[in-house]
Amino acid sequence: MPDFRMTISKAELMEQIEEARQNVARLESCYAHRISSPYLGTLSREKVICERCGGTLYPDAALQYARGFVAAGGAAEDVWPDWAKT
Ligand SMILES: [Zn+2]
Repeated sequence: MPDFRMTISKAELMEQIEEARQNVARLESCYAHRISSPYLGTLSREKVICERCGGTLYPDAALQYARGFVAAGGAAEDVWPDWAKT
């Protein structure tokens, strides 16, 4: 029978929650994310980092952000320098 008990301590869990809270604060404070990553638009679960705010997000979320930025009239190169290569 598999053991599904939690394997991290309460302190570790609280640390992870605090890290997530700080990441959201960084992302929300950024005027426009700028992401250079070969993973953008892939199914990789390796998080990408915004060069401006240091926030991290998953590649699929970053791609949707870039698309939304462009749809709103922004220049793709401002948020994703490698846009033209795709
Ligand atoms: Zn940012």
